[in-house]
Amino acid sequence: MSLGPEQIQAIIKKVVERAASQGAGDLPVQKTSPYFGRHGIFTDLDRAVEAAKEAQVVWASLRLDKKKQIISKLRSRLRECLNWMSKEAVAETGLGRVDDKVKKNLLVIDKTPGPEILTPEVFTGDDGLALMEYAPFGVIGAITPTTNSTETIINNGISIISAGNAVVFNPHPSAKKVCAKTVDTMNRVIVENGGPDNVITVVQDPTIESAKELMKHPGIRLLVVTGGPGVVKEAMASGKKVIAAGPGNPPVVVDETADLIRAAKDIIAGASLDNNIVCIVEKEIIAVDCIADELMKLMQAFGAYRLSTEQTRRLEKVVVDGKYPNKKFVGKNANVILKEIGVPAGDDLRLIFAEVAEDHPFVQNELLMPVVGFVRTPNVSKAIEMAKRVEHGYGHTAVMHSRNIDHLHQMAKVINTSIFVKNAPSYAGLGMGGEGYTSFTIASPTGEGMTTARHFSRVRRCTLKDYFRIV
Ligand code: NAD
Repeated sequence: MSLGPEQIQAIIKKVVERAASQGAGDLPVQKTSPYFGRHGIFTDLDRAVEAAKEAQVVWASLRLDKKKQIISKLRSRLRECLNWMSKEAVAETGLGRVDDKVKKNLLVIDKTPGPEILTPEVFTGDDGLALMEYAPFGVIGAITPTTNSTETIINNGISIISAGNAVVFNPHPSAKKVCAKTVDTMNRVIVENGGPDNVITVVQDPTIESAKELMKHPGIRLLVVTGGPGVVKEAMASGKKVIAAGPGNPPVVVDETADLIRAAKDIIAGASLDNNIVCIVEKEIIAVDCIADELMKLMQAFGAYRLSTEQTRRLEKVVVDGKYPNKKFVGKNANVILKEIGVPAGDDLRLIFAEVAEDHPFVQNELLMPVVGFVRTPNVSKAIEMAKRVEHGYGHTAVMHSRNIDHLHQMAKVINTSIFVKNAPSYAGLGMGGEGYTSFTIASPTGEGMTTARHFSRVRRCTLKDYFRIV
C-alpha cells in the first residue's frame, strides 16, 4: 500500500520533530531492551521494519546533495573504524585475518558506488522526450554472511540507501555483535549530519528463523541475500523479488604462455585473502602439464606449502567432513591447519596446496580455508573444460593466467561467470588492484552480477509528447 502526500508529510513532521526534541545522540525511551530503536538496533523484527519504513520516507525526501554529503561522511567515519571492525569481526566469527579484513573493509568503504551511479537515461526524438529515473523501492531486507560480515553491511548499506531506500539487516548469527555495532555507527553518522535515525536497522539477535520471517515480512519490498545455497533456495521460495548472491568455486587456469612468476605470486595472494573465505577467490588451480611442475616450484619458492601425497591423505581426513568442509577449520590460518598433521609453520604461512585429481574434495568443494587443490591437464582446452566442470555452473568467478589472446577468449566464452579475471589475483575483479567499483554481493543466480544502487532501484519512465527535443 503506498502512502498519499498528506500521510508522507505527517510522517516527516513527526520524525523531524522527534529528532529536534531528542538531539543527535539522545534517542527515544527504550521499550523492550536498552537498544530498542537506538541507532537502528532492534530486538524485534516488526519494529525494525516499522522504524525503517518511517525513516525511509524522510530519507527519500532529502535533497540529493544532502544524501551525497551524508554518504561521504559515512565513508570518512567508517575509515576511522577500520581497526575495531576488523579485529572484532575476526574475534567474533573466528574467521580470517585482521590485516586482510582491514583491506576488504577499506575497499567497500572507498569503492562502493553511491548515488552518483544512478545516472538517468534520456531518449529524445520526433515524438518528444522520455526520461528514465531510478526510484527507491522502500524498505529492503538484507541477509548477510559471516565470511564478509561488516564488509557486506557497509557495501549493501551504502548501495541500498544511495537509491533512497531503507534497509533491515538480518546478519549471520555468528557475526551479530560486530554487525550491530557497524549499523549503530552508520546511523549515528546519518543522524549527526541531519538525516533520520533508523535508515539502516538490524535484528539484534538474528537467527535462521528471523531470516525466514524477514523473507516473508509484508513491509519488505525486495530481498537481497548473500550466502550459501540454503539461504538462496529459501529466498527464492519467498514469493518476493530477490537479488541472490550464492556460493562459488572459482577455478584458476594457468596455460603454457603465462608469466609463471606472476601467476604463482598472484595465486598465492588471491587464494589466501582472508584465509580463502571470500567467495570470489581462487579455490582450485588447473595447470597445463608442461608448466605444472615449474608453477608448483615457484609457488613453493614464494612461500606456499606443498603437501606430499601422504600429507594430503591425512589432511583431507581432518579438513573435509564427507562432502563438506569441517567447520572447525573454515577461515583458519594455514599454520593452524598444518599443525593438525604435525607440520610446524609460522603465522605468516598464507597457503597450502596439494596436487590431486579432479574428483578430489580440494577441487570439487568450496572449502573456505587456505587449502587448495592443484590439478594438471594435457592442454589448455582440457583445462578450460575442467574449469567449467568444477565451477559447477554457479556462474560466479573464474581466473586465468595466459598471454595467448585466443586462450583468454576461449575461457571467457566457455566459463560464463559474473567475474572473469585475467592475469591478476582474483580480488582484482572486486576492484582491489583492478579497475571498477566494488561489490560484496555478487548476484550470479539472479543475474545482477556486481550489485550497486542501480539494482536496488525501480526504473521509472516519464514521457513528454512533442516537446523538449531542443535541437
Ligand atoms: P550461510 O549460507 O551459512 O549464511 C548466510 C546468511 O544466510 C546468514 O545470515 C544465515 O543466517 C542465513 N541463512 C543460512 N541458511 C538459511 C536458511 N535456510 N534460511 C534463511 N536464512 C539462512 O553462508 P556463510 O557461511 O555466512 O557465507 C559463506 C557462503 O556465502 C559461501 O558459500 C560463499 O560463497 C557465499 N558468499 C557469496 C557471496 C556472493 O557475493 N555471491 C558473498 C559472500 C559469501
